[in-house]
Amino acid sequence: MKRIILLFVTTVCVLSVFSQKQNTVTTTITKPKLVVGIVVDQMRWDYLYRFNDLYKPNGGFKRLLGEGFSCDNTFVPYLPTVTACGHTCVYTGSVPAIHGITGNNWFDNNLQRGVYCVEDKTVQAVGSNAGEAGQMSPNNVLVTTITDELRLSNNFQSKVIGISMKDRGAIIPAGHSANAAYWYDSKSGSFITSTYYMKELPEWMKTFNARKLVDTFYARNWNTELASNVYIKYCDGDNNDYESKPFGKDALTMPYNLQQFQGKDYSKIASTPFANDLLAELAKATIKSEKLGTQDVTDFLAVSFSSPDYVGHSFGPNSWELLDTYIRLDITLGNLFDYLDKTIGKNQYTVFLTADHAGAHIPEFLQKHNIPGGRWDDGEIKKDLNDYSKKQFSLSNLINAVMEHDVYLNHPLIDSLKLNESDIKKSLTQYLLKKEVVLNVVDKHHAAEATIPAKIREMVVNGYNPARSGDLQLIMKTGVMDAGKTGMSHGVWNPYDSHIPLVFYGWGIKHGSLNRETYMTDISATVASLLHIQMPSGCIGKVIPEVMK
Ligand SMILES: [Zn+2]
Repeated sequence: MKRIILLFVTTVCVLSVFSQKQNTVTTTITKPKLVVGIVVDQMRWDYLYRFNDLYKPNGGFKRLLGEGFSCDNTFVPYLPTVTACGHTCVYTGSVPAIHGITGNNWFDNNLQRGVYCVEDKTVQAVGSNAGEAGQMSPNNVLVTTITDELRLSNNFQSKVIGISMKDRGAIIPAGHSANAAYWYDSKSGSFITSTYYMKELPEWMKTFNARKLVDTFYARNWNTELASNVYIKYCDGDNNDYESKPFGKDALTMPYNLQQFQGKDYSKIASTPFANDLLAELAKATIKSEKLGTQDVTDFLAVSFSSPDYVGHSFGPNSWELLDTYIRLDITLGNLFDYLDKTIGKNQYTVFLTADHAGAHIPEFLQKHNIPGGRWDDGEIKKDLNDYSKKQFSLSNLINAVMEHDVYLNHPLIDSLKLNESDIKKSLTQYLLKKEVVLNVVDKHHAAEATIPAKIREMVVNGYNPARSGDLQLIMKTGVMDAGKTGMSHGVWNPYDSHIPLVFYGWGIKHGSLNRETYMTDISATVASLLHIQMPSGCIGKVIPEVMK
């Protein structure tokens, strides 16, 4: 009997091994050598198509659209639509309610002071005497990024580096566990970092800074890349009172004399397309010097092009300067992809290109064409509300701040005087609703009950973080912005600020496009799926399966 049982067991084992062999499928997980995340600050989705005829066949945009996958209806799903929130959402798949980055700046209700998104007084500048400009880290981000998850997935073997002109554009995408983040110090014209990452810049970065490329770009001045008839066809006139003048009050139109800033003022490059070239040069130097894409795990380079935002703010989406910036960025991206093809290998790397937010038309440009638009000033509204509450409640400092369309009440004052907060909010709301530029006011604590369209309500709720948000959300009339006296801005729910490009390209990506609605929160979820790694800790996005092979 024992023998029979033994024979039976042996037979079952042999059969089971045999059947396992029969069913074995080779499931080796392949991965890209490098992911390059590209955020173009303030890029509107329509720039992919509005200027398409002017993009070069071997430029970046036609290559992305011609070989990659475009999610043509991608939206920002929260308020406010500004840079810090955008970069955080792209890289965490999360929203301010969870990731905590409620603005570029916010008023912290616990600390009772204003906070800058990446400020960190416990660290110091590395690479220059930048002082406060170097006291930066990702410590205010409350969740992991996709770049953190990549590092967590393989015991921190993946190299992750973030670069940008703006500190927040480099620091937030690179995540908490980054190998490095480098941003531009406009005083010295150098790329710097902080002691959060390292004690000293690597030698290759010191060499890069020593080349003083900014002066080389200044030497070119800024003239139109194409003949002027192109700009006349595609743009508003070049000389408008409603444009800002970043190169001096007498510098009204292209060409701009940049040579005058050589060796003197390293801040001006940010408002020119040459800052994109500077950053692309840094991207190449980073890939080469840090040997990105040469390991048997995936590395990640996060590149955020900031200057389209500066150019957009000053000149607007219909300006010669803006068009010229995108014509040149197309060439710059094409060159960067050529470099990646050569060094990493074609289809060995994955790129996604998106924006942190889009942007509005200049109000006076709209008005010129009988389209609604207007301006307001959050500083003036704060003063106005404090004057009102002095009259109404005999309180002089009831409003702590008005920032990114949020009205922050002085809670310690309200608590100490045992005032009725809900009566105060009602009274302020009634007062604000009488303003010409205000469409609606939402009590943020009760936003889910607000009688406003579901899309806006969800954006308010997603943007609401009790410690770092205000009490009342201002919903402005369409085309109304907080942008000073000239130029334009962004930050509101409307499609002109919330509709962003999203194109995937390279390893693992199909060719095609998609018209169903997708969201900024889906980007990290999709990259996680592509790389077979966990999605970030606060991710609420969904994978976009259509983009993947
Ligand atoms: Zn901006």
